[in-house]
Formats: sequence, C-alpha cells, structure tokens
Amino acid sequence: MDNKVSMEEVVNVAKRRAFIYAGSEIYGGLANAWDYGPYGVLLKNNVKQAWWQDMVMKRGDIVGLDSAILMNPKVWEASGHIAEFTDPLVDCKGCKQRFRADHVEGNDCPNCGGELTEARSFNLMFKTHAGPVDDESNVVYLRPETAQGIFVDFKNILDTTRNKLPFGVAQIGKSFRNEITPGNFTFRTREFEQFEIEYFVKDALSAKKAFDEWVKARFDWYKDLGIYPDNLRLREHEKTELAHYAVAATDVEYNFPFGFSELEGIANRGNYDLQQHWDHSGVDPRYFDEETKTKILPHVIEPSGGVDRAVLAFLVDAYKIEKTEEGERTVLKFHPRLAPIKAAIFPLVKKDQLVMEAKKLFSQLKERWFVEYDESGTVGRRYRRQDEIGTPYCITVDFGSLEDKMVTIRDRDTMQQERVLMNDVINFLEERIK
Ligand SMILES: [Zn+2]
Repeated sequence: MDNKVSMEEVVNVAKRRAFIYAGSEIYGGLANAWDYGPYGVLLKNNVKQAWWQDMVMKRGDIVGLDSAILMNPKVWEASGHIAEFTDPLVDCKGCKQRFRADHVEGNDCPNCGGELTEARSFNLMFKTHAGPVDDESNVVYLRPETAQGIFVDFKNILDTTRNKLPFGVAQIGKSFRNEITPGNFTFRTREFEQFEIEYFVKDALSAKKAFDEWVKARFDWYKDLGIYPDNLRLREHEKTELAHYAVAATDVEYNFPFGFSELEGIANRGNYDLQQHWDHSGVDPRYFDEETKTKILPHVIEPSGGVDRAVLAFLVDAYKIEKTEEGERTVLKFHPRLAPIKAAIFPLVKKDQLVMEAKKLFSQLKERWFVEYDESGTVGRRYRRQDEIGTPYCITVDFGSLEDKMVTIRDRDTMQQERVLMNDVINFLEERIK
C-alpha cells in the first residue's frame, strides 16, 4: 500500500502543480525560503482550518488567540530565550565556514580540513529594531514561538472570559528561528508557521492525565486526516532530553523521505511559564478556584505542531504512482477535507448546451467550495490533471444529462463512476467532504 517516495519527486510535483515554489526564485532564490502557490495555499489553509475546527470549534473547552509577532523583549528574558535559546557554533579559521559544534567530529573543518575555533553560543532569535534608531534600547525580536503570546495574555483571558479550568488557548501563527542548518524542503525553515495549544489544568495530577489524552488526540488527528498509520509513531523523550522544568514530552513523528522526524511535540511544562512571567512582570496570573476558594497557578500541557511540517507530511503521504489500464497515473490522495479543489466540472465535449449546463453547475458549486471548470482536451487528460492536484470528484455533463438531468461523478481513488441527479450533486459532495 505504502510506496515510499523521494524528496526530489515531492519537490518536483509540488512545483509542477503549483503547491510550493522556491522563494524569490527569479533572483536565484533565498536559501530555505519557500512560497505556497495557488494550490499550496488552499492545502495549507485547509490544514489550518481542520485543526481550528477539530481543536477549537468542536471541543468547546478551547478559545482562540492571535497575539503579535513583535513582543516586549522582557517576554524573552522571562521565557529564557535570550539566555538559553542558543546553538553552539564553531568557525573555520581557513575557509570561514560556520558549523554547529555538535555536528562536527573532532577539531577539523568538514569543508577544508582547517582548524576550528572554540565553540561559542549563537542565539537563534531574529533580532531587529523597532523605530528608526537602531541602538540597543530599540531591540525587538521576531517571536521564536507562538506559545509565549498565550502565557502573556493568560491573565487577560481569565479576566475577560468565563473560562473555568481545565481550558485551553489555541493560536496559529508565524514564528522565526535563525537556524544554522535549515533544510529538507519545508521541514526546517527559518520562517515557519505553528499551531499551538496551551491547555491549562489545576494541578500536577490533572496535568499527567491531560498529557496522555493530548498525546492520543494529536496522534489520532493526523491519522483521521488520512495519514497511513504505519507512517506515524510516538517518541517519548528521554529524561536527559527534557528541559529542566518539563515533566514529560512526546513527539508525534512522521516517516518523511529522510526518515522519521518530528511533526509535533506534546509537552507537560508544569507551571513553569506562568511562574516565570509572574516573577518577571510582577503580575499575579493565578486562577481563583470557586470550589476550594484558593488561588491556583495552573499547570499546562502544550501540543505544539508545525503547520508547514503537517502540510509536507500530508503531501508526501498523499503522493502515489499507480498502474492503470491506460498506463501510469500520479495521484495525490488527500483526505477530502484537505484537498485544495473539491470537485472539477467538465462538459464531455465543447458543445454549447453541455458547456452551458456544466457552467451552471460550476457557478452553484463555487458558492460553497473551491471547484474548477475545465473544457480543454480529452476527459481522460482532464481526469489526470485533477488526480495530480488531488481533486476527489470529477463531474461530467454529457448528452444524456440533457435528457435525464443526471451527471457522471468519478471518484479519484477508486476511479469508479456513478450517475447522480444534477439536483443532488450538492448533497452528494456535502456528505463526502464535510
Ligand atoms: Zn574550512
């Protein structure tokens, strides 16, 4: 069932079919910056929307937030990012190349064999200046994670909503890390998007239980959206890998072409973050518990995923090359919720009456979904084009349609066709796409 693809094939189909382009390509690109093309942005939006619907809308115990990318630098002092968000770097005295110290064996440059300097720490936050004067007093950072925005607004959310513990706060947004060695297509980039939840509970015991529930919920989310289960696994962090404050952490990993790698991390962070911001800001973030009439500093579980990584995993997993009677076909078997285009509408041939009926159906459907109208080439070629962008249903209006008011709907995965009344097409799609 599972055919393992190479990264090169995925990069090629992503470019050819308008999913992902190299950023700034006409200027020779910018290392590890990527742009989502017309179908890529639809796929990415669908991934974010599926997450927002499943994690926020359908649960009822999670609220949303959209905090600013630029934050007071004191936030990053409190969070430890200014002091500790660093990688050890060495420079080559010969060719001047720079390497992560833990990626080099011995004291010789992997590039030219020259001598390396002592390791020094390099902060991964992007630094810039707010306002026209670029001195130290105006330094701001592009946020390296969306999570801190949630902790900093925790008290505001308590004071202005009626949320009772346990509850979560969810945020989708861009983050920036000045990675020394980005790579593997969109897997590790300096600018990336996260979907993060901070799920607040009363105490350590509740946190332990919530942690296990979140690990399962996040694993199942990827599986339910169509990832082949054998390509997913959980990896529990060793005690030595954990940050000093973290109680536990487990990664959901996907079997990328370059091996199993992190899609999402679920961490039990205790009450460290809220405590840090309390200490640094002097503002008490505690929750008043009506039952016990005491103030509580909540513990938190953090399921933190990379949107770009999720998109890449869904793309890799959907990519299939299949033998058919007419030869080979390339098909992206996206879950219908994620497919960029939900249906394509064709007139069998370019005859006025068929074109008119097909366009009428197209204009009805485009009020609800992203759909395409295509009248060029043979129907077989139009099917293949839609297969390559992952469109679950192709709908053909033929001469029979003029008599019986029915259309042929062809299923992307089974390639089976069925006749459906034109008036029932919306219901048909609604049941299958959700
Ligand atoms: Zn060198």
